Amino acid sequence: MPFVITDPCIGTKDSACVDVCPVDCIHPRKDEPEFATTTMLYIHPDECIDCGACVPACPVAAIYDSTDSTPSSQKTLIEANALYRAGEAAAVEKAEDIVKAHMASHPDLMAVPPSERAAAHAK
Ligand code: SF4
Repeated sequence: MPFVITDPCIGTKDSACVDVCPVDCIHPRKDEPEFATTTMLYIHPDECIDCGACVPACPVAAIYDSTDSTPSSQKTLIEANALYRAGEAAAVEKAEDIVKAHMASHPDLMAVPPSERAAAHAK
């Protein structure tokens, strides 16, 4: 089961997870052109080897260890993680569209600072 990045990454994009991922499956990296414009970072589910290194690296607890453990409010972002492909404009746009729809449908979570958003997932 792949790891999943969720909405505390929105407004954070810390990239510590990118630095520790042993298989380079978290994108965009800071050296990729999409980094400046994307709303959050994404984990490629087919490339993730479930090592778990990214979870403690994330300063805002944005990463869940499986699609099953991803909270109900975050389920749509599973597809966004799966769709994103570095360097493929159409795939990037599809993923970002899902994230923007998520933001529009969860004003409650977006009103919470990113560092406190993971705690709000359980409520
Ligand atoms: Fe990368 Fe490991 Fe995190 Fe998967 S679990 S995204 S392989 S650091």
